[in-house]
Amino acid sequence: MSDCLFCRIAAGEVPADKVYEDERVVVFKDINPKAKVHLLVIPRIHLESLADLEPDHDKLMGYMMRLLPKLARDQGLEQGFRTIINTGKGGGQVIFHLHIHLVGGPGLPGF
Ligand code: 5GP
Ligand code: ZN
Repeated sequence: MSDCLFCRIAAGEVPADKVYEDERVVVFKDINPKAKVHLLVIPRIHLESLADLEPDHDKLMGYMMRLLPKLARDQGLEQGFRTIINTGKGGGQVIFHLHIHLVGGPGLPGF
């Protein structure tokens, strides 16, 4: 059994409020939402962070990027959304399984 929390969520071993999944990605609600909509988009394969990407992952990353606006639309974010990828301790990453934060809704603070 993996000791990675997000691998375990992807495998269904740890419960999460999933809104979408397919053979490549799993999308679920952040347990501590920072906005009205706050989703986490993860690849099923374990990748620690952006710093671990290899050329082989280009298609997967492109797939995740193209999925984002569809997920946002399904959440009612017609006006737009924000994406954040924290990388490494210095970037505020806490869970070391690559994830894209998709946030949106009224009152999103400036960045
Ligand atoms: P990071 O700082 O690594 O970019 O973000 C990790 C995110 O994972 C945080 O926003 C945190 O709230 C979320 N998170 C941590 N543990 C869990 C969990 O068990 N379930 C869900 N759904 N989200 C989690
Ligand atoms: Zn993992």
